[in-house]
Amino acid sequence: MIRVTAVHPGSIAEELGLIPGTELLSVNGRNLEDFLDWEFHTADEQFLLHVRQPSGEELEFEIERPLEEPMGVSLEPPRVRRCANRCDFCFVDGLPEGLREGLYIRDDDYRLSFRYGHFVTMTNLKPWDIKRIIEYRLSPLYISVHATDPVLRRYVLRNPLAPDIVELMRELAGHGIAFQTQVVMSPGVNDGAVLAQTLDDLYAMGDAVGGCSVVPVGLTEFSKHHLVREPTAEECRAAIELIDAKATQALRERGVQWAYGADELYNRAGVGLPPESSYGEFDQVENGVGAVRFLQRQVREEAPELTGWEGRKIGVVTGTAMGSLMPMVLEPLARATGAAIELIVVTNTLFGPSVTSAGLLPGAAIQASLTGRDDLDLVLIPGESVNDDGLFMDSMSFGSLCEAVPVEVRRSKVFSDALESPVAA
Ligand code: SF4
Repeated sequence: MIRVTAVHPGSIAEELGLIPGTELLSVNGRNLEDFLDWEFHTADEQFLLHVRQPSGEELEFEIERPLEEPMGVSLEPPRVRRCANRCDFCFVDGLPEGLREGLYIRDDDYRLSFRYGHFVTMTNLKPWDIKRIIEYRLSPLYISVHATDPVLRRYVLRNPLAPDIVELMRELAGHGIAFQTQVVMSPGVNDGAVLAQTLDDLYAMGDAVGGCSVVPVGLTEFSKHHLVREPTAEECRAAIELIDAKATQALRERGVQWAYGADELYNRAGVGLPPESSYGEFDQVENGVGAVRFLQRQVREEAPELTGWEGRKIGVVTGTAMGSLMPMVLEPLARATGAAIELIVVTNTLFGPSVTSAGLLPGAAIQASLTGRDDLDLVLIPGESVNDDGLFMDSMSFGSLCEAVPVEVRRSKVFSDALESPVAA
């Protein structure tokens, strides 16, 4: 059963009399458990829908509609599948106490991998899930491989029951499922020869694996530092060499880069980022792979359309990771808009300075950095630092930040999204 949370005005659902709280029970006799069932089974022009109204009344509807016309319901979010692992580098273990409950959930949900590109380990799948991935053709899936050696992978995940990931991926690939993959690189554990072998094994799976990124492990002040450490610059450079060797082979044989390093890997290595052209379709940009080159492209393509910013002063808040990289994005943005742009690099006061990602900045640290900044006309903060409920990691709301600082604040992911309308004169 899936509960309806909203009915869109003028939709088929409204016409049928569905209301928030209506339970969607089955389609063509198939019970519904989550949004995937709903989307898959209602993908026909005709179907039989069985619902239970909040009053308890059960109704059946024979639906006939053009495929392009959506039913018009919002569904309650699925209960997230929990992770079966205990990785030493787990971000959840690195959280301080006292944050909101939802942040302590270790999710590992293949449905969210398909829908939102979340990386999953596939260690909590039941045979029924595998059948479902195949039946619904949930592709591509985003897999945290870490190591293809099954014994070592179990060690990395701290899960003696983790299945052989190569075997599982091969089985799914045989049914047309494709993958994006990542390795979170933990020095002395899955770098060096292990990383080389992992890249080889994944590459050998052919077109089913669209690419593999290597992300250096990131720790907070509260992580298990006695068990895991962050890689040194030299270790990052060694990983880049392996990536480059595999990318050279892939370009020669398949015409794509295939192996990538996260921007953070280059940052830590003190090595320049690869050119924009090497990232292809930016398949893993949400994973911090090619994020800077992606922003540069967005600015090049969209900034010339932004008007009304000449002479304005804009502050751009970011974390320490992007502090040294951002100027190569902001300089062309300033040139195209005529605005004076100031980079405001904020240290993470919640997780400690080793956490450098802009998306994990607490509201309180951003607020502190903007104290007295009424000289600015506008401040852009990283869009990903605020969740769907408008909250920062420290549970400060975006609204509270806006009230507390003497300058207009906007959330931005690619700059142009926040600069379409100028600030009031
Ligand atoms: S897979 Fe590892 S890092 Fe991810 S949530 Fe589970 S324990 Fe944490």
